[in-house]
Amino acid sequence: MTRETTDILIAGAGIAGLTAAACFGQAGYRVTLAAPAPPRRDKTQGDQRSTAFLDPAIALFSEAGLWARLAPHAQPLQELHITDTTGWPPRTRDSRAFRSDAPGTPPLAQNLMNWRIADVLLNALESLPNVALHWGAGFASMVTREREALVRLTDDSSLRARLVIGADGRDSAVRETAGITAEISRFGQKALAFSVTHPEPHRDISTEVYNQGGPFTLIPLPDEDGTPTSAVVWMNPGPEALRLQALDAEAFSAEATTRSAGLLGPLTLASPRAVFPIITLRSRALTAQRTALIAEAAHVIPPIGAQGLNTSLNDLAALLKSATPDALGSRQHLDRYENSRARDVAARVAAIGFYNRLTRSGLPPLQSLRLSGLKAVADLPPLRRAVMKAGMGG
Ligand SMILES: Cc1cc2nc3c(=O)[nH]c(=O)nc-3n(C[C@H](O)[C@H](O)[C@H](O)COP(=O)(O)OP(=O)(O)OC[C@H]3O[C@@H](n4cnc5c(N)ncnc54)[C@H](O)[C@@H]3O)c2cc1C
Repeated sequence: MTRETTDILIAGAGIAGLTAAACFGQAGYRVTLAAPAPPRRDKTQGDQRSTAFLDPAIALFSEAGLWARLAPHAQPLQELHITDTTGWPPRTRDSRAFRSDAPGTPPLAQNLMNWRIADVLLNALESLPNVALHWGAGFASMVTREREALVRLTDDSSLRARLVIGADGRDSAVRETAGITAEISRFGQKALAFSVTHPEPHRDISTEVYNQGGPFTLIPLPDEDGTPTSAVVWMNPGPEALRLQALDAEAFSAEATTRSAGLLGPLTLASPRAVFPIITLRSRALTAQRTALIAEAAHVIPPIGAQGLNTSLNDLAALLKSATPDALGSRQHLDRYENSRARDVAARVAAIGFYNRLTRSGLPPLQSLRLSGLKAVADLPPLRRAVMKAGMGG
């Protein structure tokens, strides 16, 4: 049995775990990243979600020297449109545009495919000599003491670390081993994530189209072979999402076109379709002795308003900022992290969960409330500014 020593053990190689390894590695810490398998880094097998990164996430990537590598694959989002529809086929009742008020300001967000992000991050990690990538073994268990954690992996190897970062997703084994419980709400919905091509240009506009079952969101991607392309997140009750996933490509493209209210012309499916269950999850604490939870190990948010991974990268920025080489993983370090993140995480999980309940409903009174809410947020400048600031990671 090997027993290595490292500063930080990161469990999980989703975007959050990979980014954590790159940021702490760049900062000079010795990092071991362990996961059952490396993420797929190609278009057909990789993660079909995209992420619209907001300013704080871009700042984190820039500080770690990663944004210059990601930027060539990013598509700027200049405006967010919210379109409220009713009936079937959907009839547009109202639409509002959200954009930055000040001229010359940067885009609202930058959108990239997740498989592409994983590829760029893995390339960066492979060139960091102080980061060890331990594939084929997940986190199994640990014993913590005041000065260190002794971690056992699923291949029976073990190592000592001053800090264990649980980035091992919504069913986090680190969270469970640390004895941290989580509040979970299930909505009976699933999100389909896929890409489409379309004849109309997206003009760097992301559009959330509301009807019932949850939003249908078009998010601009770079053109593919000169053809306008968008990522799509389509939320539905679970059985309906599975029915749509099983349709042949032509029938699926036709239904997606109808659901999009024809905004970009006929849509053509251009990728596999991945399905994700929609839940909210909030862990009751972000830390335990020598342990910090980040990202979906700590919170899961429905995919509305590009909040999930952006919130996760805010966790990482706070954990990094509150670390010092001497105090890494100490109670002081972890308290600073917990205090700086707990309120924001709780607020975002509650707000997006509530918004999802409101917007998925097909009941006329709730659809009217949704429309009134949209108008109030869009048309009252102080409310509009407050919502945009919160949505942009402020
Ligand atoms: C359809 C959809 C669209 C989205 N769009 C956006 C968006 O535009 N903007 C945004 O900010 N967010 C978005 N999100 C949210 C975002 O995609 C997720 O929050 C994010 O990808 C989750 O990353 P993660 O690294 O926390 O978890 P995961 O990607 O689930 O990674 C967890 C990792 O842990 C590994 N693992 C599991 N068990 C163990 C173990 N025992 N030991 C070690 N490793 C283990 C897994 O193999 C995996 O590699 C979206 C989500 C969905 C569903």
